[in-house]
Amino acid sequence: MPTIEFENVTKIYGEDTVALDDVSFTIPEGEFVILLGPSGAGKSTMLRVLNGLTEPTEGTVRVGDQEVQGNRSDVGMVFQEHYLIESKTAFGNALTGALSRNSLLRSMLGMHSEADKLNALEALDTVGLLDEAGQRAESMSGGQKQRVGIARALVQEPQLVLADEPVASLDPKAARDVMRYLKKAATEENLTTITSLHQVNIAREFGDRFLGIRDGEVIFDGDADDLTMEE
Ligand code: ADP
Ligand code: ADP
Repeated sequence: MPTIEFENVTKIYGEDTVALDDVSFTIPEGEFVILLGPSGAGKSTMLRVLNGLTEPTEGTVRVGDQEVQGNRSDVGMVFQEHYLIESKTAFGNALTGALSRNSLLRSMLGMHSEADKLNALEALDTVGLLDEAGQRAESMSGGQKQRVGIARALVQEPQLVLADEPVASLDPKAARDVMRYLKKAATEENLTTITSLHQVNIAREFGDRFLGIRDGEVIFDGDADDLTMEE
């Protein structure tokens, strides 16, 4: 059974901005998918209808055997901006990923179980930052911050991870570093992952499968070999 299914999904903003145009595809569990396409192609919209932040105008989006309705706490998100709390340590930031699973009261009191703390340390280990667990976010590099962002998403114990341009603000070396750890995390946890990227050369190194998006349509769906031939 696929983890993700788009069935004839159309998203129209306002009167006539067609962001997704009758898009259908399925993604099996554990696949590491990269979305490629120019700015305005519909990549962010595709990720937003998957985590329930945007409702499709037509069609159905399923995660597991459930139709997506409303915001989902079981989807880990990584953004171009890291959205870390700068004054908190890497550990503290990773721990905030547990909040979405805890009760409002526990969240407000900042109470974390030993299991949450262990999860946070394991997640930091996965992204290669165990030694930096006590460092404040403000003292970390851009690439390290994105890796903390990945750790925070892992602590959510997500069913899938969506990363919207996670390396767009980074230099190529840091970008590759972040992608390497994202891929490692996905592989270790058998997490279905969709990552939008601009850079085809970086995408090719990491993706199992590539969806090319243009003007709201999937114009390409294949593996790295197909991607080479396209160019
Ligand atoms: P990408 O992530 O590939 O850059 P987006 O999904 O952000 O593409 O945008 C697809 C199209 O939808 C663009 O034309 C964009 O301007 C438009 N769009 C995106 N979000 C909104 C919104 N909230 N309201 C109106 N139009 C939007
Ligand atoms: P992205 O790279 O994700 O496409 P944008 O800078 O296009 O980012 O969009 C940033 C925010 O503005 C998004 O939340 C998107 O929904 C919103 N947005 C984008 N295009 C439009 C638009 N034409 N009208 C209204 N909101 C928009």
